[in-house]
Amino acid sequence: MPVNSISPKVKLASDLQHKQSEGMPNMHDYNRNINCHNWLQIAVTPGIEDLALILCRSGKITYNVPCSILSDGVRNSIRSLQLSFCAFHPTTELGPLKKLTSLSLSSVRILEDELEFFLSNTPSLEQLDLGDCKEIVCLKIPCVLQQLRCLKVSDCLKLRVIENKARNLSSFILSGVRVRKLSLGETLQMKNLSLHRSNLVCYARTELPSTMPNLEALDISSHYEVAQEHMKHESVFGGYSRLRQMPEHRHVCLKSVKITGFSSAKSLVELTCYILENASSLDCLTLDTTYGAGRCGLESARSCGGPMVNCVLMECDPLSKGMLSEAPRGVMAIRTYIEDKVPSTVKLTVVEPCSRCHTSLLLS
Ligand SMILES: [Zn+2]
Repeated sequence: MPVNSISPKVKLASDLQHKQSEGMPNMHDYNRNINCHNWLQIAVTPGIEDLALILCRSGKITYNVPCSILSDGVRNSIRSLQLSFCAFHPTTELGPLKKLTSLSLSSVRILEDELEFFLSNTPSLEQLDLGDCKEIVCLKIPCVLQQLRCLKVSDCLKLRVIENKARNLSSFILSGVRVRKLSLGETLQMKNLSLHRSNLVCYARTELPSTMPNLEALDISSHYEVAQEHMKHESVFGGYSRLRQMPEHRHVCLKSVKITGFSSAKSLVELTCYILENASSLDCLTLDTTYGAGRCGLESARSCGGPMVNCVLMECDPLSKGMLSEAPRGVMAIRTYIEDKVPSTVKLTVVEPCSRCHTSLLLS
């Protein structure tokens, strides 16, 4: 690979196939690690602005990114750091990275105190993306990150606590994480909120109106709370009580709402009616009764370290029997209780099970 040592942007995407053979289980990793190490020594020089080290996801994580590459000159110039499928253990000797605005760690082995220390040394950070960082249980975002606007956390399976002290977050995306304690701190600037975890309907109803008055886009997905198989909520068709009215809060900035896994749960219907009656600026309302299942047709996918490419998904993702029996009830709830409340200025999109892929299961 040609490397221009004076280029401010360098990217290593290892697409080596795993050539591990019996009797020599570590030779591939050993060779790859030597190559990575040599490449970093040559490519990462003072003046560098962007560094992306994206190793192919095969075997175990064995490459440890040495802190020594972040020399004084590099720390003073680097703006974007992207690491994937490697270990990174910043030490307390590491000085500040004053210009770093973007940090992305994907499948990176890093301890939570190491991450907290590293973040406390990046005062200009605007965007933080953590994905599949398995060793982090408690994520603490320090208050020194006054510029942090976007925080995305996904698939960090051991993560249970998120404590944010950055005061100017405007976008927070959380998915694939079973967080027990979520403390977002100051949220008056929040404009884009995307949460995928359990028991969100109650949270959305009781806390969002007062804590995030400037929301523009809200995307909540709360599978286990309203899925028919684990239904904890009364269906809107199950009882005789009328829909409850919630106290009014005006939402003059909320423009787009998408609810994934929409069902006939009464509280969900009430929440939707509440949004329609109180979000005067709403443009789009999407109610997806298929739990965000992938749909047949064109899909985008990313090859290892490569660009986004289009491929054809031959069939929709399957839905369980419980989901398929509940989806038509969700659609009926929309037709019965919601459709006639949608103002002409709001575009309502209802996502139903696929007539081609899900029909046989629906009939059975
Ligand atoms: Zn389909």
